[in-house]
Amino acid sequence: MIMPQLVLKAGKERALLKQHPWIFSGAIKQLPQAENGDIVQVLDNHNHLLGYGFFSPQSQITCRMIAFTRTPFQANEWQNFWQQKVEKAFQLRQRYIITSLTNAYRLLHAEGDFLPGVIVDVYNNIAVMQLLIKGTERICTQLVQAIQNIGIPYIYLKTKENSTFLENVNLPKGWLTQAPESSLVHIKEHGFEFEVDIEKGQKTGFFLDQRENRLLLQSYTQNQKVLNAFSYTGGFSVYALAGGATEVHSVDISKEATQLCEKNIQLNFAHHVPHQTFIADCFDFLRQTQEQYNVIILDPPAFAKSAKNVPNASRGYKDLNLLAFRKIAPKGIVFTFSCSGNIDRDLFRKIIFAAAADAGREIRILHQLTQPIDHPINIYHPEGEYLKGLVLYVE
Ligand code: SAH
Repeated sequence: MIMPQLVLKAGKERALLKQHPWIFSGAIKQLPQAENGDIVQVLDNHNHLLGYGFFSPQSQITCRMIAFTRTPFQANEWQNFWQQKVEKAFQLRQRYIITSLTNAYRLLHAEGDFLPGVIVDVYNNIAVMQLLIKGTERICTQLVQAIQNIGIPYIYLKTKENSTFLENVNLPKGWLTQAPESSLVHIKEHGFEFEVDIEKGQKTGFFLDQRENRLLLQSYTQNQKVLNAFSYTGGFSVYALAGGATEVHSVDISKEATQLCEKNIQLNFAHHVPHQTFIADCFDFLRQTQEQYNVIILDPPAFAKSAKNVPNASRGYKDLNLLAFRKIAPKGIVFTFSCSGNIDRDLFRKIIFAAAADAGREIRILHQLTQPIDHPINIYHPEGEYLKGLVLYVE
């Protein structure tokens, strides 16, 4: 099979030789005769093969590498290639995550698992797939096969509202396999139970990336009054209550989210627990509340969805943290996060610094947090580090 070929300018192979998986438009000498989403061969300036990638002619990132290889693949090698990717990813999770206490994890984390554009989260025996770039839909059947081969029977394709590239594609929407009896699944995370709504939940249904940070929070909540801002399914609230909080308030702007949160509290605690939900904007809530919290969690959605939003988003993070620093009781703890890929660790820390300086309180960093191992960061692709968190001690 002759594949279309993309040729790089002299010297532009350097990043690729270091396995950086993105090729920017400026690096290309000759474009392939290919359609959006085709898998193309990538060659250096001397026409030596460097690997294969998904071609995206309209994007700044014109090609995303899926394989680095000097030898061309035979047509019959591809199915095994996809299978290997899934198996390798699964082995890592099997080794460090899946236990009798935790059965929900991210199986495929795009570039972090050497598979750009593909996210797969597993909730017990259901995998939820998100396809983020054109081309991935063509390997969907192979991925479904590979995921079933590792023992996960049900697979659901979750389409983002803005992924128009899936509109005219010959793929079933929703269930890619037989559907399970219910699209509500109960998962376990560190022994706690959560209900995930596969079809209606935000993103793939649950924010698995905060698993270890929730566990850390638990150790800070004994006898504390806790505010969980942007609470969604109430993950942090469950851990706070388990840690012995005297009171937990969960705030989210979405009514459905607060209902999910309440349900999860009931699932985990047989008796009445000191917990209350509020449907509110967290900025307004923090401005207006008369409560004195000892622990505040700030886990907002990504404010910077693109690079051009960074200035506005930075202001948003600063205002939010400033409100928390002003409100929190003396000797309080703030867990603050940003999941905007466009705001890196250094910038986030500067933003928090600015908020701290405005609040004029003595503030120290106790922990610097990130995403867990089922959201691995390819060392050659630092852009994959999206979740940043700080645990702060506010005198
Ligand atoms: N902390 C959660 C994940 C938060 S996701 C967890 O551990 O699972 C972000 C949440 O913020 C969503 O549920 C969304 O409904 C909510 N949200 C977005 N903007 C908001 C705002 N201005 N005020 C309150 N909630 C908001």
